[in-house]
Amino acid sequence: MGNKIHILPDDIANRIAAGEVVERPASVAKELIENSIDAGSDRILIEVTAAGKDSLRVSDNGCGMSRDDALLALERHATSKIQNLDDLKGLLTHGFRGEALPSIAAVSRMALETRVAEAIEGTRVDVVGGRVRDVSAIGRGPGTTITLHGLFFNVPARRKFLKGVDTEFRHIVNTITAMAMAYPEIGFDLRHNGRHVLQLARGSFDRRAEQIFGVRYGKDAIGVESSASGAEVRGFVGKPETARKSGAQQVLIVNHRWVQHKAIAHAVYEGYGGLLPKGLAPSYCLCLSIDPARVDVNVHPSKREVRFADERLIYATITRAVHRALRGEDLIPQLGDGAVAAMPEGTQGRVAENPMAYQPKVGGEPQMALPLTVRSSPRGSKGAADVEAGGLAEEDMAQVSVWQLHSKYILAHIKNGLIAIDQQVAHQRILYERAIENMHARPATSQRMLFPLTLAFGVKEIHIVRETMPLLEKMGFGIRDFGGNTVVVDAIPIGLRAWQDGQLLRDMIRDMAEAEQATAVPPAGQERQIAPQEHRLASSYAWHTSIRTGEDLSTEEMRALIDQLFATREPFIGPYGRPTLIKIGLDEIDNRFKR
Ligand code: ADP
Ligand code: MG
Repeated sequence: MGNKIHILPDDIANRIAAGEVVERPASVAKELIENSIDAGSDRILIEVTAAGKDSLRVSDNGCGMSRDDALLALERHATSKIQNLDDLKGLLTHGFRGEALPSIAAVSRMALETRVAEAIEGTRVDVVGGRVRDVSAIGRGPGTTITLHGLFFNVPARRKFLKGVDTEFRHIVNTITAMAMAYPEIGFDLRHNGRHVLQLARGSFDRRAEQIFGVRYGKDAIGVESSASGAEVRGFVGKPETARKSGAQQVLIVNHRWVQHKAIAHAVYEGYGGLLPKGLAPSYCLCLSIDPARVDVNVHPSKREVRFADERLIYATITRAVHRALRGEDLIPQLGDGAVAAMPEGTQGRVAENPMAYQPKVGGEPQMALPLTVRSSPRGSKGAADVEAGGLAEEDMAQVSVWQLHSKYILAHIKNGLIAIDQQVAHQRILYERAIENMHARPATSQRMLFPLTLAFGVKEIHIVRETMPLLEKMGFGIRDFGGNTVVVDAIPIGLRAWQDGQLLRDMIRDMAEAEQATAVPPAGQERQIAPQEHRLASSYAWHTSIRTGEDLSTEEMRALIDQLFATREPFIGPYGRPTLIKIGLDEIDNRFKR
């Protein structure tokens, strides 16, 4: 019998290694982006189709590779980043194992295109399932582009384990946003199926936090900045009232590495000193800088985990940094200086139970229960409305003469004079009531979009999107949560006037976020209770989708508008409290002519 032990051929070894490094498209993206960062790039473009299941490309403007290096890079354990074991201490680059490229190449069809700035031509290497098929000279700019098709095409068992496009894309977005937070000085672009999802210009940490998380310091987040025992912590934590049940984004960055670390996450939580309502998680992004010699990054092949030489110290540093920041905002008046870790059992719970500690405020004023009501005045019935309109409701609309004045007002004659209708406000009233009707009684019908749209929101906004999703759906929007901070819209209300590639939704969500004190509809009958949230959403929708001042209307459109206005429950007042129409009596006109 021959020997039983043999060395695995490289391609098999690579496929096994791939199992550790390459879990899903997001982990491939992470490895490729890390290489781009290590190469000194300041712009990185990521393009994926079908969440990277079909194709994934990372392009950078980094140092590039020579032809020889490009070929070598695909070999196992080929790295330019360390020479010996000592280099592992104090390591500043992301890579060091020399495993990512060969592992990824082993389970995909890869094209590696690269050029160093000094060379006159670049190199293209085509690899299929880890085997180099072709090497050629190409013309291109300095930097590197790696394109993958058919990830796991030769490992069907793995491919089968990939989740749906939504989930895989969520992982990609989470990965890229976290890495973008770690490197605000690098520009990141993410395109999905040809559409822009993220466009992050180079800038400061704060600017990026604003772009990615929608952070507004002082308003919904608090800046963290402190250093102690040779460790520096900076970033932001969400205010306690922005905490939520799910979907909170928690990003920890250690020496520019995005990591997961249970103990540190717990340290952040502890920094809130019991201010967080039970079961709710805060969003935050914290960057820790310490002497690289104090962190072991070689714990896991994907480098998502790190180990600290002095974990307790790091833990205390983080807790204190978060605590100080929150206390600085007077959010934790009850707690003494640095007393968090030493707080007696049970104290935290007590703070959390005080509802005032985290109750959101609206516009700085105590939140009012604002049950809005609209009058119950069934269509066609005679109420105060009809009398005031001068009997207009009794006129046959088809006969009424109407004129448009300065593309702004509609004039119509009524029995005892004339009314001038503000076309914009009137239409807002109609749309507003329709939206409320959809929320309460008859959900709107929607039309499917040919090309579903991916929309990314800031952390505060995405929270509102999730909160209002059930209402939006009743209004006729088809919205799916993509996780992270993105949603996909695949349907909109039928007949919607102003979708504008999603701008409408952004505007509405922004309005909700600003939580402006909307003018209440004067309380009348008690038939229907409208929650403040419903009122705000419906009025914002009406505002953004209504006919505008300056639009010319046909006679039919004007008649229809008047008809619909008088079919509403509150025809004389717009959703923001402005009058929809004024009446000019014949007697008033007579008077002025001194008749
Ligand atoms: P590691 O990053 O651990 O060194 P990789 O397999 O990820 O291993 O990459 C192998 C080598 O290929 C790197 O050390 C680097 O020299 C080179 N390389 C990979 N990607 C790029 C890139 N985008 N630009 C320049 N060089 C790169
Ligand atoms: Mg690498």
